[in-house]
Amino acid sequence: MTGPAVSPASASTHVMGVYSRGDLAFERGEGVRLYSTTGEEYLDCVAGIAVNGLGHRHPRLIKALTDQANKLWHVSNIYRIPEQEALADRLCASSFADQVFFTNSGTEAVELALKICRKYHAAKGAPERIDVITFAGAFHGRTYAAVNAGGYAPYLEGFGPRLPGYINVPFGDMEALKAAIGPHTAAIMLEPVQGEGGGRVFSDEDLREFRRICDEQDILLVYDEIQCGMGRTGRLFAYEWSGAQPDVMVLAKALGCGFPVGACLTTDKVGECMTFGTHGSTWGGNPLAMAVGLAAFDEISKPALLEHVRMLSGYFRQQIAGLHDRYPDVISEVRGLGLLIGIQLKLNNREFMMMARARRLLIAGGGDNCIRMLPALIMTVQEASEVLERFETVCQDARAQLQSKVG
Ligand SMILES: *Cc1c(COP(=O)(O)O)cnc(C)c1O
Repeated sequence: MTGPAVSPASASTHVMGVYSRGDLAFERGEGVRLYSTTGEEYLDCVAGIAVNGLGHRHPRLIKALTDQANKLWHVSNIYRIPEQEALADRLCASSFADQVFFTNSGTEAVELALKICRKYHAAKGAPERIDVITFAGAFHGRTYAAVNAGGYAPYLEGFGPRLPGYINVPFGDMEALKAAIGPHTAAIMLEPVQGEGGGRVFSDEDLREFRRICDEQDILLVYDEIQCGMGRTGRLFAYEWSGAQPDVMVLAKALGCGFPVGACLTTDKVGECMTFGTHGSTWGGNPLAMAVGLAAFDEISKPALLEHVRMLSGYFRQQIAGLHDRYPDVISEVRGLGLLIGIQLKLNNREFMMMARARRLLIAGGGDNCIRMLPALIMTVQEASEVLERFETVCQDARAQLQSKVG
């Protein structure tokens, strides 16, 4: 192999400083473990932020990627792409949807969902219906429309005027939601389980009520299942728990299990407004992405895997409840659904994440001073018990630190 050596020890000064990166780099992954460039082994409960649903180096994904790499990487969407048709068929057969548009990222799928919401009403002669109502704590991505939809002030500051048509209401506040609905309302958009927001879960009753309101007033219901979909909650899609189906749904993250793939799904009734020329993408759904997406889908949609996620999340939940009882000075609340676990802390979540890293446990942060555990769906009970052992040690470290501050 030739080419310049990558030196993680000296962080590049040419990479834009938008991330707060720790001085840690990985060389190799295997299942739920990551190995740093300095040779240390870590247990991975970040999984690339719920991306590596099948862990690292999954043999079926490697085969799908390398087989396709030897055949065809990319062709334009002006030609039929059989792998894309196959993945769209699979997604529609296992969901509410009739049509799929593939993207390269989550936020692009959100962008299309928002366009569809407006186009749907415009095509029905109501172009004034442009408002999309979202909830506090939401995260829908980083394009201009997505940050406006998310409504989180720090992501909006300094980027010019706020876009018209986005209304953010308090989480789960049914009265505020009803008050926000008016003649300009196009859609309600939400994550059935908030990811970046810290694992906050909408109740089944709330989701069914949103569905009822939307039906009554011809408002579109959009689910952002980019993080909570693709098996993470123990069902292929999180909405299956409530049975309240959306009109539009966006997926990404574990859809490609590490290969960048996103998707926007909708029904024929809604999607028919998206006629020739109304949208497009150069790479979205190319053969390489679709080959990996197909393999990932076939693994994640296996009933035995989804059953495993439900079993494993029960184990996590029970064990973490025990930790909550034993460390009430460290943990204030446990949230989430399935293997999207949010734990709200009594000390700074960033500090706690650094302590976990020192114990070779990788966890993600979240809003509301939470940390998130997002293990690969294939984690074994044995590996989970190792995770929980390390996690308890971190709780002890955190307790010692809190006590030293008081004393
Ligand atoms: C990650 C995420 C996005 C954005 O996806 P990108 O691929 O980073 O653009 C949008 N919504 C939710 C719920 C997410 O978790």
